[in-house]
Amino acid sequence: MTLQAPTFYFPAPRAQKFCSQCGNPLSLYIPPDDNRLRDVCDTCGAVHYQNPRNVVGVVPVWQDRILLCRRAIEPRYDKWTLPAGFMELGETTAEGAMRETQEEAGAQIELGPLYTVIDVPHAEQVHFFYLAEVQSAELYPGPESLEAAFFDLDDIPWSELAFRTVTTTLEHYLADRQTGVFPVHHYVIPGPFPK
Ligand SMILES: [Zn+2]
Repeated sequence: MTLQAPTFYFPAPRAQKFCSQCGNPLSLYIPPDDNRLRDVCDTCGAVHYQNPRNVVGVVPVWQDRILLCRRAIEPRYDKWTLPAGFMELGETTAEGAMRETQEEAGAQIELGPLYTVIDVPHAEQVHFFYLAEVQSAELYPGPESLEAAFFDLDDIPWSELAFRTVTTTLEHYLADRQTGVFPVHHYVIPGPFPK
C-alpha cells in the first residue's frame, strides 16, 4: 500500500478558543516545521494538537439475535445502534467495548475477536467493533438508551440505524454468517468533507 498525501485539507473545528496552559487566546496557523493548521498560543507558544478519536463497540449476539440499543441522546436520538462509544483514557479497545455494552445495554457479554476497523476521516474518528456473545437475556439499559432489545436477523431496523459504521458492520456480519468465517474487515467511510 502506498501512502498518499491527504486529498482533503481543512482546519478541524476549534476545540478551544483559549490556551489551556496560560489562558490567553489561540491563533490558527501552520507552525514552522509543520504542514497543518494548528491552534497555537501567541503568548506561551503551546501548540494544541487535535487528533482522531476512537469509538469502540460490539456486535452482541444472543441465540441468533442481535442486541441493539435505541439512543436516548443526540446525535441520532431515537435511532438504533450497536453498543458503542468513545474510548476512555487508560483503557484498551476491548475494555472500552465491554464498558460501553454494560453502560448502554446492561448486558453480560463474552467478548470475541476484533471484527471491523472503520476509518471515518470526515468525523475525525476510527471505529472498532468486536464480536461478542451475550450471556443472558437480561438487559438493563442505562440512561444513554431509551431501550435495548434483541432483533431477529430478518428484523434488523435498517432504515432506523443511527450510524453508517453500524449499518456496514451489520451488513458484513450477516454476509459472513453465510460462510461462517468472520475475518477482520478494515475499510473507510468517505466524506462528505466540510467546505
Ligand atoms: Zn498559552
